[in-house]
Amino acid sequence: MAASSPTRVLPPEFDRRYPMIVKGEGVWVEDSEGRRYLDAMSGGSMALTLGHGRHDLIEAARAQAQKLAFIHNERLTNPAQERLAHELMSVAPQGFARVHFVTGGAEANETALRLARSYHCERGETSRWRVISPAQAYHGPTMATLALTGRAGLQGPLTPYLQEQPHIPPSTWRFDPTGEKALQALDTAIDEYGADSISAYFSEVVSAAALPAYTPPRRFWEGLAERRERHGFLICFDEVVTGKGLGAGYAAIGATLCHARVYEAIASGSRRFTLGHTWDGAPLPCAVGIAVIDALRREGLIERVAERGPRLRDELADALGDLPMVREVRGHGFLLGVEYVDPRNRDSLLPPELGVAGRIDDAALEHGLVTLSTQPTGDGYAGDQSLFAPAFTAADEELAEMVARFSAVVHDIADQVERELAGREPVPVAAPSGDKQ
Ligand code: PMP
Repeated sequence: MAASSPTRVLPPEFDRRYPMIVKGEGVWVEDSEGRRYLDAMSGGSMALTLGHGRHDLIEAARAQAQKLAFIHNERLTNPAQERLAHELMSVAPQGFARVHFVTGGAEANETALRLARSYHCERGETSRWRVISPAQAYHGPTMATLALTGRAGLQGPLTPYLQEQPHIPPSTWRFDPTGEKALQALDTAIDEYGADSISAYFSEVVSAAALPAYTPPRRFWEGLAERRERHGFLICFDEVVTGKGLGAGYAAIGATLCHARVYEAIASGSRRFTLGHTWDGAPLPCAVGIAVIDALRREGLIERVAERGPRLRDELADALGDLPMVREVRGHGFLLGVEYVDPRNRDSLLPPELGVAGRIDDAALEHGLVTLSTQPTGDGYAGDQSLFAPAFTAADEELAEMVARFSAVVHDIADQVERELAGREPVPVAAPSGDKQ
């Protein structure tokens, strides 16, 4: 259909203009009018970790589709699923036993929820079902995963369908630099709901869109581990973004890794973990997953990102360093985040009604750069922020160009914001109270 025909797609935002992207090469994409955009967000959503036009991945998909594209895994298995499971086990941290394949992030998280619940039920602890998670998180748009964010703005009118779950606030530099307050909030939630009702603590290791590139202080993780031992709940990590893009944008595939402790509970109990989606473990996406892991190994991309990431963070920090509106540039590898504050006191959040995050993304698109920024949370714990997460394969000069374009955009918006702030009171810095984070 011609690009000019009126759309019949139900879009996320009805009043937004969506450029029609028709092709991509490496970290560049091109729209139907021939405009080129540099993609600082790995396909816009951190999924396209190896860039566009990868002949190895395309060939792996073609070869598998020709041999066996689809077979359902309820009664049958296939070599691609079996091999990918072995590959993942070989790179997983010690202690994991099995893999369950799915088609995406929310499904992977739902699988983790079901595994945690199964673990407790198999052991006779059927009262355990509640899941505690940080409020400033995103685990997917399905009803069970959407309940795991405390961002009321994301849940909108869907709350009648969402099981109410306990949340704790983030340990950011502003409110809880040591992590102790978050641990207290965790203790309060455990006390309030009863330790024997808690199934799991669920969180990202390094946050993505909900709190760009944030990770809690070490003390929080240690305290969390202590409480897990004391109270007998599980910890589920959402590595949908940090798990390195299993399909790299070429196939819809996700995986849930099941710890031996959980596997053994089911194996020595009902020996059943039924329910699954039609595409779970299908040969075509699994073959792409194998090719992605091969590429990561062959091209030394994990090592490159580990080595190049800190310098990229420094380059971004240097490019934005003169701006009082930029408080922090943080992150690990190629998952970086930029946090904005009121430039007058470098502490307050920016007034949400200025819509700074959204304006940065719109201006970036105008400058031919794909970015993804996060609006403030309504609870006052987190303000405007941007993610910066290029594909692992981006060349040095492409990274430099992304930083330059991003910096130009943030400088422009910062100038506008300084003018708009005149005559406004800064947003108070005190930690929000109440349990709705
Ligand atoms: N968890 C995290 C941390 C995410 O960033 C996302 C979305 N990128 C999801 C879960 C949901 O994944 P999906 O959109 O594939 O369902």
